[in-house]
Amino acid sequence: MSAVQQRRALVLFSGGQDSATCLAWALARYAEVETLGFDYGQRHRVELACRTSLREGLQAMPWPGRLGADHLLTVDVLAQLGGSAMTDEVAITMQQDGLPNTFVPGRNLLFFTLAAALAYRRGLEVLVGGMSETDYSGYPDCRDNTLKALQVALSLGVDRRLTLETPLMWRDKAATWQLAQDLGGAALVELIRRDSHSCYLGERGQLHAWGHGCGSCPACVLRAQGWAQWRAQRA
Ligand code: ZN
Repeated sequence: MSAVQQRRALVLFSGGQDSATCLAWALARYAEVETLGFDYGQRHRVELACRTSLREGLQAMPWPGRLGADHLLTVDVLAQLGGSAMTDEVAITMQQDGLPNTFVPGRNLLFFTLAAALAYRRGLEVLVGGMSETDYSGYPDCRDNTLKALQVALSLGVDRRLTLETPLMWRDKAATWQLAQDLGGAALVELIRRDSHSCYLGERGQLHAWGHGCGSCPACVLRAQGWAQWRAQRA
């Protein structure tokens, strides 16, 4: 692990596996790390509760004193725009353009823009997000080029040099579990397995080997497959 940087970071932290791993990555790397969540009327609101237990668990990990303030912004406008299975009570299907209807157009563009505004106010220089081009559902706002372009636009727009870091961009879900193992060992893997949330349907009931979830929505399938692949690699 590289030496701790004196820069301060803001992590887009939803409470899912990816953003929890990104938060650990940032804690291992930066002197001070704040977190930002969004309440956008998402159906799986249980994610927001998971944020609290993950943050508490991470306080006990080997990066004492680095986890700073948490911020939660309400972004009602995404649900007002409608038409997504993430905010509307509709089944998850593929759209005519080849994207699943879990795509919320503009979501990551909006989230990073709000993060840049908050970072400006808080004097933070690095924005960290869990987007991945490797294991994604084809969401165009998760692409590396989208986020590189956004880094330039946001830095110009607030006249500060902001860095957008996406440590999972070229990692699949199995590699994301391995990153958690490398960062915080078995304790971090267990925290993320137990307390992070991925399921699109908000199901928390049963604890599977790979974590909580319905086991059949696209997010659960991806998470379960990644876990199985990672365990097989380590066997
Ligand atoms: Zn599910």
